[in-house]
Amino acid sequence: MLDYSFSFGVGLSACLICIVNIIYTFISGRTDKAQNKIFLTIYIFLAINSMNEIINGVFGANPSLVEKAAIVIPISKYVYFATHTLLCPLFFYYVSNISFVSTRFSSKRVILTALPMLITELMTLTNPLTNFVWHFDGYIYHRGKGLAFIYLAAVFYYVLAIVVLFNSWRVISRRRKKALLFFVLMVALGVVAQLVNEHLRIEVLTEVMGLSGAMVAVENEDERLYSGTTFYNRAALNLDMEGYLMHRRKLSLIVIHINNHDIINRLVDSRENNVIIDMISDYIKSVVKRYYVYVPDRATVVLSLHDEMCDKADELADSILKRFDEAWEYKDFSVMLNATVMVADVPSQIKGASDLFYMLDRIELNRDEKRVLRDDDLGFIMRKQSIEEALSRGFSENSYEVYYQPTYNLNGTLHGAEALIRIHDKELGNLYPDEFIPVAEQSGLIDDIDNFVLEDVCKFIKSGIPAKYGMSNVNVNLSVIHCMRPGFVEDTIAIVNKYGVRKKSINFEITESLAADDYEIFKNIISRLKKEGFMFSMDDYGTGYSNVNSIFSLDFDVIKIDKSILWAAEKNELGMTILENTVRMIQQMKLKIQVEGVETLEQIKLLERLKVDYLQGYYFSKPIPKNDLVKMISIEKASKG
Ligand code: C2E
Ligand code: CA
Ligand code: CA
Repeated sequence: MLDYSFSFGVGLSACLICIVNIIYTFISGRTDKAQNKIFLTIYIFLAINSMNEIINGVFGANPSLVEKAAIVIPISKYVYFATHTLLCPLFFYYVSNISFVSTRFSSKRVILTALPMLITELMTLTNPLTNFVWHFDGYIYHRGKGLAFIYLAAVFYYVLAIVVLFNSWRVISRRRKKALLFFVLMVALGVVAQLVNEHLRIEVLTEVMGLSGAMVAVENEDERLYSGTTFYNRAALNLDMEGYLMHRRKLSLIVIHINNHDIINRLVDSRENNVIIDMISDYIKSVVKRYYVYVPDRATVVLSLHDEMCDKADELADSILKRFDEAWEYKDFSVMLNATVMVADVPSQIKGASDLFYMLDRIELNRDEKRVLRDDDLGFIMRKQSIEEALSRGFSENSYEVYYQPTYNLNGTLHGAEALIRIHDKELGNLYPDEFIPVAEQSGLIDDIDNFVLEDVCKFIKSGIPAKYGMSNVNVNLSVIHCMRPGFVEDTIAIVNKYGVRKKSINFEITESLAADDYEIFKNIISRLKKEGFMFSMDDYGTGYSNVNSIFSLDFDVIKIDKSILWAAEKNELGMTILENTVRMIQQMKLKIQVEGVETLEQIKLLERLKVDYLQGYYFSKPIPKNDLVKMISIEKASKG
């Protein structure tokens, strides 16, 4: 059965798949990146190799063609070897390319890795003179001694590719990993089959099939693209940054953030998502190639500059900022965009992907001046790096401390307290949560911090002091990032059980800032803890994050109105209306209301009129160490008799 017609059939199928996939690659326009070019070359070589199988099949099956075969088959074999020898090296370069390993032709390592390829290719190209790799008797093919070298080199690159793949495991998306492994397995399958039975000539076909997998999952970059554009998205930026850092590649980043994006988006039809990106995309493409551009959000563009381009980063940033002095055209109108432009070097200034995202999140805070932000302006990233260090040494150096801020009933009696974390760092001094909590959330240390606070609160309650002074509960802040972590509910219950305190005496405060997808998970977490007896407060109600929907669907006991709402009520009538309506709405839902940021007697009078339930603020006390709180409330109790 495994005769020449088998060879012919397999060769024809492989060739057809190659041709279809090559055409498809051109149709989808995926030909501009180095990665695309290597991929296409592999496919073209495989197409040539499958033609060799077809030719073998045709001539082998027709003895009448002997004369022609003696000419055609050696030529076809020559072309086959000339291309096939390069396949494994190309696959290695392909994997290196998507794994961010530098393939620039400067380092010794690169030349060394190219050497086996160059030698074996030279061997095949000069074979007609040497007959070292193979030779022909008429049209009968004989293997030569040199073939062993070709195989060895192929194995070398194949193994090298696998090593690179595993080395970069963390920075390649799961889909890509699966596709590349599939390819590796298909190649192995084909080679082994052909070794076991030399008539089972399926190697080319399995390689072509394996490569189809790579086409679907690696070459097709839909999952990496910012939808509706040809630029990459936030997830791709994250993975690529990790990849560059992992392989210590140097690059410069130019960040362009459009400050007036809200207004622009309101100006045009709100159904169009990418207005700003569309407006500037032609210009951006004239500055760098599209595959060096990332769009982390709809108002921000990050350009990555590599190799020689790095040196031009500063110059380029200046000219980009200058371009924003002129108007931008979009459909039938033209607008001025107000941009902040930043330049940062990787890895000297940006040491991790989290540094970059921290910078992107804070870019609006640095928008004032009309100049490119660089060097000293990036001090806040360095500050973040030192805060990270302070956070991680904090536990071994006992620099964390829980402060408590008392809360009161409307009639002035003590109601409870909120636990608030502080850091007394030996190098950076006192740190406040507004600055370090976002860093802790990014670095994952937030879980330890929240648990540390919870333990401190449990010890406090266990001491019996809160109950003695009539506190009904102590409030503990929870980060949503921590709540969503697997095992959060079990861990939390375990901590509280360890101290054997009543769950009702702990009230968790949460600032809701959820994406719609996470909503159901979050709802489930709260309801499981509520069943255990814990209380819940919604924190910062009225700020950008919270919304009315979540009051309805999440099971809160207390709504904490944000201090900004209280303060705005004193400033003007609109503010007052907002506060009054907010209070009325929550009261109609029969939920308790706590107001924070109470600093004056006038504010207390206002809140008495509105009949809110609990008060918290500097008027009563700032957050203070536990011992100070105990002293304070015991004096209060004594003075009230
Ligand atoms: P928050 O939960 O909204 O906490 C209230 C913040 O307002 C506290 O700042 C408190 O000191 C401050 N504050 C209270 N009354 C007044 C007042 O009358 N006037 C003024 N100007 N401020 C007042 P703090 O302690 O700096 O905490 C900041 C934020 O950090 C907290 O906001 C909370 O979101 C977060 N945080 C604090 N401790 C923890 C913790 O243990 N875990 C987590 N996940 N987050 C925490
Ligand atoms: Ca709070
Ligand atoms: Ca708050």
